[in-house]
Amino acid sequence: MKSPRKAVEATEPGTLPEARTFPVASRTDVEEARRRVLRARSLDAYTVEVRKLVKAKGWDAQPVPLPQAVAMLHSEVTEILEAWRIWDVHDATKLSREHWWQFWRPRGIQKPEGMGSECADVFIRLLDTCDRFGIDLPAEFVRKMDYNWTRPYRWSKI
Ligand SMILES: [Mg+2]
Repeated sequence: MKSPRKAVEATEPGTLPEARTFPVASRTDVEEARRRVLRARSLDAYTVEVRKLVKAKGWDAQPVPLPQAVAMLHSEVTEILEAWRIWDVHDATKLSREHWWQFWRPRGIQKPEGMGSECADVFIRLLDTCDRFGIDLPAEFVRKMDYNWTRPYRWSKI
């Protein structure tokens, strides 16, 4: 499979790269999705939004084995550390460089950069992983919080 970067390099100047035929959300689609996401106020509602995104972007085209899903979660967690090493805790969105495929995005939609963005990636990936493997995350959250309140003070700390 040809990588997107190679698709651009192989394009003659002044012609449209084949990648331009990729279906991309319009500004209206993005704004509708943003309104839905802003209205979502529960893990279930967030999961519904992530599921819509996963389907729309074709990320559900193939099953993801659990070890791969866990590795991808790890990779997003590592990106938090990477962002911190580069930008500390600051939002670096304005510092991010344009990606070649950014030209296909509605204007004004910039790739978020920084720890916050990477934390959001972890959250999105976690919701997707739980959704794929039938884990009821809201119920598990409540159950684990209940249990954690029963732990002794400074549990497992020396
Ligand atoms: Mg990330």
